[in-house]
Amino acid sequence: MSETATGQSGDMHLASGYRKDLNYRVDFGFDLDMPPQLGFLEELSWNYFWSWCEGGEAVFRDLAPGLWEDCEQNPRQMLSRISEIALWQKAADRGYVARVADLEERFREYLSATPNTFGKVTPENPVAYFCAEYGVHNSLPIYSGGLGILAGDHLKSASDMNVPLVAVGLMYRYGYFRQKIAHDGWQEESYRNALEDFLALKPVNDENGERILVSITMRGRRVHAQAWLAQLGRIKLYLLDTNVAINDEVDRFVTGHLYGGDNETRIVQEKLLGIGGVNLLRKLGVEPSVYHLNEGHSAFLNVELAREFLEEDETLTFEDVVPRVRELCVFTTHTPVDAGNDSFPADLVGSCFDESYIESLRLEKEEFFALGRTDPEDENEWFGMTPLAIRLSRSSNGVSEKHGQVSRSLWKKMFTDIEEPTEVPITHITNGVHPATWISPAFKDLYRRHLGQDWYSLINSREIWRSAVNAIPDDAVWRAHQLLKNLLIAYVRDSTLRKDAGLKSTIHEREDTRKLFSDEILTVGFARRIAKYKRWDLILHDLDRLLKMVDDPKRPVQFVFAGKAHPQDNTAKAILQKLMSINHDSNWQNRAVFIEDYDQEVARYLVRGVDVWMNVPRRPLEASGTSGQKVAMNGGLNFSILDGWWIEGYNGENGFAIGDRHEADDENDSVNDINDADSLYSILEDQIIPEYYDRDEKGLPRKWIARMKSSLATLTPAFSSDRMLRDYIEQIYDAGETARTRSEQN
Ligand SMILES: *Cc1c(COP(=O)(O)O)cnc(C)c1O
Repeated sequence: MSETATGQSGDMHLASGYRKDLNYRVDFGFDLDMPPQLGFLEELSWNYFWSWCEGGEAVFRDLAPGLWEDCEQNPRQMLSRISEIALWQKAADRGYVARVADLEERFREYLSATPNTFGKVTPENPVAYFCAEYGVHNSLPIYSGGLGILAGDHLKSASDMNVPLVAVGLMYRYGYFRQKIAHDGWQEESYRNALEDFLALKPVNDENGERILVSITMRGRRVHAQAWLAQLGRIKLYLLDTNVAINDEVDRFVTGHLYGGDNETRIVQEKLLGIGGVNLLRKLGVEPSVYHLNEGHSAFLNVELAREFLEEDETLTFEDVVPRVRELCVFTTHTPVDAGNDSFPADLVGSCFDESYIESLRLEKEEFFALGRTDPEDENEWFGMTPLAIRLSRSSNGVSEKHGQVSRSLWKKMFTDIEEPTEVPITHITNGVHPATWISPAFKDLYRRHLGQDWYSLINSREIWRSAVNAIPDDAVWRAHQLLKNLLIAYVRDSTLRKDAGLKSTIHEREDTRKLFSDEILTVGFARRIAKYKRWDLILHDLDRLLKMVDDPKRPVQFVFAGKAHPQDNTAKAILQKLMSINHDSNWQNRAVFIEDYDQEVARYLVRGVDVWMNVPRRPLEASGTSGQKVAMNGGLNFSILDGWWIEGYNGENGFAIGDRHEADDENDSVNDINDADSLYSILEDQIIPEYYDRDEKGLPRKWIARMKSSLATLTPAFSSDRMLRDYIEQIYDAGETARTRSEQN
């Protein structure tokens, strides 16, 4: 039975089923008689480094390919289920054993390097990175989408670049929901106990081997949390978890679900993340030089730092310690819409923070509430995590150039002494993605053959990378791409069969499914969260025009969709249902598929296998977007509204731009929608389709490949998370308040 959570009542409903695992073993140990030649695999399965290092994924997959997929690419689970016969057979395979040995050598070398120092960021005083979700791998279901994936990629780059950094988050026992689409097209959610999946999480203990517990007051009582450690290469990610026996049963659900609860659940989660997170670092003896708040969810940490300073010196006031807190904290905002920013009514904040905590800040209740308002005087304003973070951090930044500008306008109201939005102290660092995670094995091979063994380091030198990629022969690029496209098609067919879903309602017959999709047809991918501003229905604006393209016998188009609606967002679910219900008398049935349960696994297939990646947000509401960057690194072409990162990425040759730079006047700017839809169709009809099908005598679309190469060559270095992290280090982590202000004035 699926367990659905909707706020309090959902929690209550879950509570009864939850008792079953009260005594769930905490070490998730299993007996495994590993052949000594393969012993290293057990060790590697504890470090998510396997998921991005050269050959790491393959070494697990090749151990037992079918089981690997059954276990959703989770090596811990696979090792718990694999037969000993299979292990011993593999141990007799000399080629395989040599690969394991080689991997072990690289792993040891990787881990033995001493961490780098970047100004005040040192191994003794690392960066403390806080985020409410982390997208490390699909087998660790503690992310919902872009924010989490970005955080995961940030940590992976920190590991590769050997940046001293410790990360803090929450361990959601039931994770983010899994999506199924019912026959009427309505989204259904279900949750699974993630810890039953043998995750690579180790309990965090003190030197006596006792579980470290942090405890904070919420809901009028003490709530305790234990911690789990996920190891990402050289980086430690600590995850707090309130599922401990001494807690009240409802409190054990504080970290039950990611974004599954109501406002009350959310504020207690955020209190745990911010305040519990700082307390955990203290218990671990970590003294950060910088606290990076990735989105405002963790902003209570700034308040806790203030409380610590005040505790040290009873003569100080809150105002006195604000500069010290600010000097330690930097904040990244991720949304360009007011409503996207977390906020809570004052009485909820009041009941979450008892009076003694507020007293320990030497503040009156009203003064405390004012910290979270854009206008401190306005008693009706809700307590916002973004105003709190901006107020108590030395640096605030958006996630693309455009988003920086939008954020300055949005938050100008907090800076009453500033006249011009351009002077609002919010900068930007454009998001990037982790190349080793997102570049497919096929392209890694291609680069190794044409760019040499150390091709990966070339990504950091834009000019060298650009000319090296441009020199790769067209047919080699095309072959690598077609290979990935075929993997996507196999995945589409397989998941359609397996899940019995898709835009086709008559999919049941296996024969039909085998015909689904073709590698000779132009394939357009569209996968993103289902939210109004993402305009899922833009493509459906003129159905006849769309179907004419799909049906064209000589130059057809096929579409693959994926995406989740927030479990409490019925408007979004209705949008999805509308898409699912297109049941036109045409090839649409064979040429449009919806893949359920968009997660990192689905994303890997999609971003690597499509020809074209479409993105049609209502300007300027896409803060950055990162999925298109993953596509660009695998030879797909972006076909997107000029918003977020694409404004910086698009150069006229490396993809396609939809619409003009007009900005929607409001949520319902239908003229703007009509214009954008018209532009979308026209570009497909006049540019994309003709260019894609324009083949030379060898069957190669030369102009298209030129665009692919331009995209690979220009976008890979510019939108890698290594570049992003370097920017954070140089412009933010290692810059003090004064340095930053100075650089802004220049
Ligand atoms: C990359 C990624 C995202 C973020 O993509 P957007 O471009 O922001 O839509 C979301 N979900 C998954 C699973 C991803 O891999």
